[in-house]
Amino acid sequence: MSLQSRNSHIDLLLTTADAPDPVIAGLLSDPDATEELSAAAHQVRIARKGSHTKQRGLIEITNRCLNNCLYCGIRAANRTLERYTLSHNEIVAAAKYAYSQGMRTFVLQGGENPAVTDTMVTDVVRELKSTMPDAAVTLSLGERPYDIYRTWREAGADRYLLRHETYNPAHYRSLHPAAMNRENRLRCLEDLTALGYRVGTGFLVGSPGQQLSHIIEDLRFIQLLNPGMIGIGPFIPAANTPFADHKAGDVGLTLRCVAILRLMNPDADIPATTALATLGGPDAQQKALCGGANVVMPKFTPPEARELYHLY
Ligand code: SAH
Repeated sequence: MSLQSRNSHIDLLLTTADAPDPVIAGLLSDPDATEELSAAAHQVRIARKGSHTKQRGLIEITNRCLNNCLYCGIRAANRTLERYTLSHNEIVAAAKYAYSQGMRTFVLQGGENPAVTDTMVTDVVRELKSTMPDAAVTLSLGERPYDIYRTWREAGADRYLLRHETYNPAHYRSLHPAAMNRENRLRCLEDLTALGYRVGTGFLVGSPGQQLSHIIEDLRFIQLLNPGMIGIGPFIPAANTPFADHKAGDVGLTLRCVAILRLMNPDADIPATTALATLGGPDAQQKALCGGANVVMPKFTPPEARELYHLY
């Protein structure tokens, strides 16, 4: 793509909510567009979100999971992994430490673990909200029934992260076992929104079999959902999963997606994710923060547990 047509495509994205597919596809597929897209996204981020980078303290509360997402290192079928579940007191202590380090949002993330009961999460949320009332609690505990989301919301949970992973039905099928379905995940996002959570969603970049057209579907879905937060990261092959031998997602493509997401969703919070930093190093994370992203999520998981939370 010539410099001139690239700039006019970026202008089009800046000025219309619905730039045509070929425009988006052209920008996504052009490595030379990364710098200009990032610069345009950075301007929008500064204008709408300011230059301040928000910090969210991530606490990985369990690596036990009932599900078998084909890409995920903590999938149930991965028998090689030593499993852990933090206790109520360990989670609260990690959050208090994060608070002492300046965090005012905690993200409690984990697998779909039946031992992390509805009641346990409710009690933890209540304690965090009563002891640190100026902090927000974000949950990222996967797909649950409406009533459980409601109980957690009533206990004080403010936000919920649940990536849709991919919007395309056939691609979703190829990344997940038959026991999971995309409709339920989308139902969860609807329920969470209806319950008044600030919702975060997102997708994998470069998952095996992903086409550019799938990414465009993801971008359109997100724009329509209009979530408060959008987290995306490159697929990274995880040991002992069916995708262990596939190639990783592309850092440049992920950065272009971050920038396009910022242009399409000027007011959303967009993290420079751990997966991006793992694959591309601090340099890639820095590029995301100068290319549309405005959030980082430092880990406050106790060190022994952190060693075992291997998504990839
Ligand atoms: N059980 C929760 C939390 C999942 S882990 C849930 O279902 O939401 C958080 C995110 O890690 C997932 O949504 C997925 O997008 C990402 N992830 C998992 N495996 C990955 C991999 N191999 N490479 C990159 N990201 C991965």
